[in-house]
Amino acid sequence: MVPVDKVGIVGAGAAGLTLAVFLADAGIEVEVLEKGAGFTTLGSGITLQGNALRVLRDIGVWPEMLEKGYPSNSMAIRAPDPDATVVVELDDVRTGGEDLPASLGMYRPDLTEIVRARAERAGAQVIYSTEVTGVEQSDDGVTVTFSDGGQRVFDLLVGADGINSTVRRLIGIDVTPAATGAGAWRAIVPRPAEITRSELIYGGPRYIAGYCPISADWMYAYIVEPAQDRDVVADWPELARLAAQYGGPWQGIAGAITEDTAVHYTQFTTHLVEGDWHRGRVVLIGDAAHNCPPTIAQGAAMAIEDAAVLAAEVVKAHGVDDEVMDRFHERRVPRASLIVRSSVQLVSWLVDEVPNPDVPGVMHEVAQTVKEPA
Ligand SMILES: Cc1cc2nc3c(=O)[nH]c(=O)nc-3n(C[C@H](O)[C@H](O)[C@H](O)COP(=O)(O)OP(=O)(O)OC[C@H]3O[C@@H](n4cnc5c(N)ncnc54)[C@H](O)[C@@H]3O)c2cc1C
Repeated sequence: MVPVDKVGIVGAGAAGLTLAVFLADAGIEVEVLEKGAGFTTLGSGITLQGNALRVLRDIGVWPEMLEKGYPSNSMAIRAPDPDATVVVELDDVRTGGEDLPASLGMYRPDLTEIVRARAERAGAQVIYSTEVTGVEQSDDGVTVTFSDGGQRVFDLLVGADGINSTVRRLIGIDVTPAATGAGAWRAIVPRPAEITRSELIYGGPRYIAGYCPISADWMYAYIVEPAQDRDVVADWPELARLAAQYGGPWQGIAGAITEDTAVHYTQFTTHLVEGDWHRGRVVLIGDAAHNCPPTIAQGAAMAIEDAAVLAAEVVKAHGVDDEVMDRFHERRVPRASLIVRSSVQLVSWLVDEVPNPDVPGVMHEVAQTVKEPA
C-alpha cells in the first residue's frame, strides 16, 4: 500500500472538482490541473438527477445549487402536432431520496463554479491553463508533464479529463469513442412562466425536441437528430428554422433563437473502458472511463458518483494499491455499464426507427438501480 498525501486530478469538470472536494476534506493535498483558461460564462444547461444531487448535498453545496437551479419532480410528453398537445404527464422517480427533487436543471457554468469554489474552500488548488501532456510512473510516484514543460509529482493521479482523455491514452488504454448516429442542438432561451418542468416531443421533424428549465429566467431547449457535421455558430438560423417546425411552446422558442443565443451542437459518442480503469497509481473516472449519449441524463451523475466512491475507497485505505483500485472499479462498473448500455439502447431505437420501443422499461430499470446510493 502506497500512502496518498498528494493527489493530482486532471480535469476540472464535474468528476474532477467533486473528487477534489472529498479528498481535500479528508486532509489530502489536491491539485486540479485544467487545460481551459478558467471560469467561463459561456455554456449550456444540464439536468442533474436525484442520485447526483445526493452526492452534491453530501459535499454541502445543495443550498447554493437550489438557489441557482430549477427543481422538478415531473415531466410531460407532448405530441408532434400543431399544438404540441400534452399526451402524458409523469412523476419522475426521486432517485436521491424523498427529501431531494427528482432533478435539478442548471446552467453548467453555475454548477462548475459552485463546486470549484467549494473545492478551494476545502483547500484544493485548481490550476487553469495547464495541459497535461505526459505521465510517467516510478516507485516514487507519478510524474506529470505539462505542455509548457513544467512537471509535478503526485502519489496518485486521476484522469478526470473527459471523453477524449489524454491520461487514458498516456497510460496505454486504447479506446476510441464510437459514433452513435445521433447528435443534438442545444440552446439557452428565456423560460416562459408556464414551462415548469422538462417536456419532450418524440417524432415530428426530428427524433426528439425537448426543453428543461435551468433557472427562474432560463431554460435549455434541445433537438436530437441524425448526427451531422454542423458549424454551430453560423447555423443558429437553422436551429430556429427547425424549432419553428414544432408546435405549441416551440413557436416561442423558435422566435427566441437569435445570433445572441448560446447554441451548441454535439454528436453523441459512447465508450466504456473494458477491464481495469487504472494502471499502477493512475486511475480514470467520469467520461474518461465511460461515456454515453445524454438520453437518460446520467453522464454527469455517474462522473460525480465515481468521484465519491473513489474518494471513499482511498480515504478508507489511507493509500492506494491494486486492491483499492479494484474495489473502486467493482463498485462502479455495474452502474456505469447499465447507464452506457441503456443510453445507447435508447439512441439505437431512435436511429433505427424501431416502432414502440420499451423506453419506460429501460428508464424504470435505471431509476431503480441508481436509487440505491453508489
Ligand atoms: C449534449 C450533451 C448533453 C448532456 N446532458 C447531460 C445531462 O443533462 N445530465 C447529465 O448528468 N449528463 C449530461 N451529459 C453528460 C455530461 O456532460 C458528462 O458526462 C460530464 O460532463 C462528464 O464530466 P467529466 O468531469 O467526466 O468530464 P468533462 O466535463 O468533460 O471535464 C473534463 C475536463 O478535463 C479537461 N481536460 C481535458 N484534457 C486535459 C488535459 N490534457 N489537461 C488538463 N485538462 C484537460 C477539459 O478541459 C475539461 O474541463 C451530457 C452530454 C452531452 C454531450
